[in-house]
Amino acid sequence: MTLFYPLLVLGGLGIVMGVILSVANRFLVVEEDSRINAIEKLLPNYNCGACGTPGCHAFAEGIVNGEVKKLSRCKPGKPDKHFNPILEFLKDHPNIDGSHIDVKI
Ligand code: SF4
Repeated sequence: MTLFYPLLVLGGLGIVMGVILSVANRFLVVEEDSRINAIEKLLPNYNCGACGTPGCHAFAEGIVNGEVKKLSRCKPGKPDKHFNPILEFLKDHPNIDGSHIDVKI
């Protein structure tokens, strides 16, 4: 009987926390532009930081939100292997308003 109440309290807390987390996951999720992950896959993915960002994901994020203007900031990147496919991808995937992201090699 002495073990019953602690288990009941801990079990109840677990259920309450699980409900809170699932509600938060449902309503507080931040949708990310799907182009970011697609561009990240086209980068060398060394996560070296030579471009001045914390990694390839942040660099891809910078491309999509317009902060990165030159792809050559990615030092290990090669024009034919990485930059041209990114430019092609961006040409095929414009912004919602139809405008294109202004980025160059
Ligand atoms: S320099 Fe290129 S490979 Fe290195 S983190 Fe930046 S985007 Fe990734």
